[in-house]
Amino acid sequence: MDDTALLRTLAIEPATLAPAPATVRTADARTRYGLPCSTCGAPSVAATTVTTPAGPRWLDSCRDHMIAAAKLRSAGGGFRGAP
Ligand SMILES: [Zn+2]
Repeated sequence: MDDTALLRTLAIEPATLAPAPATVRTADARTRYGLPCSTCGAPSVAATTVTTPAGPRWLDSCRDHMIAAAKLRSAGGGFRGAP
């Protein structure tokens, strides 16, 4: 599943996501832990990036939405997290 479909499935409007750097390190992602989940607003435990027409954006996820996003991504051919 590509990022556009992922965001649509999770009912996330890409324009609401914070801009992310083109290259993300684990340390960058960890600074976002605890921010509101992009889907439900609960404290996040993971941060990855998604590609949008406006450029890379942060996708902050609580545990449940981290798992949901990983399953959706793997169903479509791969998981992409911070290295
Ligand atoms: Zn959530």
